[in-house]
Formats: sequence, C-alpha cells, structure tokens
Amino acid sequence: MKKLGLTPGTTEGPYYKKDSPEKTVLREKGVPGEQLLLTGRVLDANGAPLAHARLDFWQANGKGEYDNVGYVLRGHQLTGDAGMYTLETVVPGAYTGRTPHIHVKVTSPDGRSTLTTQLFVPGLASNKTDSIYRDDLLMTVSRAPAGKSATFDFVLDVS
Ligand code: FE
Repeated sequence: MKKLGLTPGTTEGPYYKKDSPEKTVLREKGVPGEQLLLTGRVLDANGAPLAHARLDFWQANGKGEYDNVGYVLRGHQLTGDAGMYTLETVVPGAYTGRTPHIHVKVTSPDGRSTLTTQLFVPGLASNKTDSIYRDDLLMTVSRAPAGKSATFDFVLDVS
C-alpha cells in the first residue's frame, strides 16, 4: 500500500505556552480576525485515523498579535474515534517577518512523539518571503457562509 507523506515539522517559534486549556472554540468576543473553521484528521502513514491524538494550537489574532499573558487563541483537544479534529478560530494576521500561520503540536496517542509545525494560508504574497513557509503545510481554504473554512490532515510517524 502506498504510504502517505509525513507532515513536516517546523520551528516552534517564541510564543508557545504550556498548559493551554482544553477547548475547540478559540474564537471569542473582542478578538479581531475573520472567522475560520478548521477541520481535519490525524492519520498514520497508512492512512489509518489516530484516535486520541492531542493537538495543541496557538496563533496570533487577525492583527498579528499573540496573547502572551493569558490563553486567548490557545487551546488543545484530542481527536475522536475517526481521528477528527475541529477548531473554531480566526484567520491569523501577519506580524513582523512572518506570513500568517497557525502553530500546532500534534502528539501521538501513545504520547511518545510530538510533531511541532505550522499551517499556512494559500494565495498570500507574504508566503514567498517567509523562510519557514512550505507548500506542503498549506491549508485548503474555502469561503464559508460566515468567514472561511479550511481543512488539513496531519500524517504522523507512529511506526
Ligand atoms: Fe507565530
């Protein structure tokens, strides 16, 4: 059987905070940014869904600002039986030197391996001048009734 390409890792960056709350809705009142609904699955290299994988997301708001005091736009969740995750958030903004991106750490169900990576938004000129950007970390983004919806499947090496 053909193996899926593993999702590549990228740098963690300076703004990760441990102990994020468990939640799937990061968007909240007063947080600038266009609505974004991100969904997808966590899979192994054979395409089998990984239940109980842990995803820990953190990102800037629509103005490119992180909450480094509290936990706004920071949260973790576990995948369900079909390896699915759902994140209600906002489209991140650019900040100095960086094209818009969503950070995430994906930990295998057995807790032994963690992939640290970033997801990117297609079609932005700033992608071309960001040294961390990669085509294979692009979300698939479409217009939704309110804001945007996006998908991305993570492929973890759990062998
Ligand atoms: Fe960042």
